[in-house]
Order: sequence, then C-alpha cells, then structure tokens
Amino acid sequence: MQSPVETAGSPARTYSPKEDTTVKASIDDSCIACGLCADVCPEVFEMPDDAEIAKVKVDEVPADAEASCREAAESCPVEAIQLEE
Ligand code: SF4
Repeated sequence: MQSPVETAGSPARTYSPKEDTTVKASIDDSCIACGLCADVCPEVFEMPDDAEIAKVKVDEVPADAEASCREAAESCPVEAIQLEE
C-alpha cells in the first residue's frame, strides 16, 4: 500500500520573482508625512509616528497590492512616491 505523498502534483506555485514583472516603491525626501499612502496601501507603506517621512515596508510590491500602491503614488500630494518596474 502506498501513501499518496507530496510527489504527486502538488499545486506548484510557479511564481518566480525574477521572471514576473515586479514593482518596487520608494519614497523621497519631499514626503511631508501626511500618511495618505499608508492609508491607501498599508501593505506597502507605513507612517511610523516618530518618522519624518513614510516608509516602504516591502522590497517588492505584492501583486495583490499593486493597484492600491499605484493609487497611493498617484494620490501623494507631493509626488514623493516613485514606482520602479
Ligand atoms: S502620501 Fe506622499 S507625502 Fe504623504 S506620507 Fe505618503 S509619501 Fe509622504
């Protein structure tokens, strides 16, 4: 009797960060710490209470947060958010 172990077609996640289109976000010094980006896309941005500018939490924008990340970048009042494809 054989037990069905993980060798048989585990639903392989073919996700590969190096091959997929990835987006990186960064914030420059013009940030006025309004916190909007962290409200719009908390998956990527945070606005720590003691920070002078917002922070990017992730190296690469998760695919499911890409739309809100773009919205945050477009909503930033001083255009401090850069997205690098
Ligand atoms: S929306 Fe722009 S100005 Fe406001 S915290 Fe984010 S990066 Fe800074």
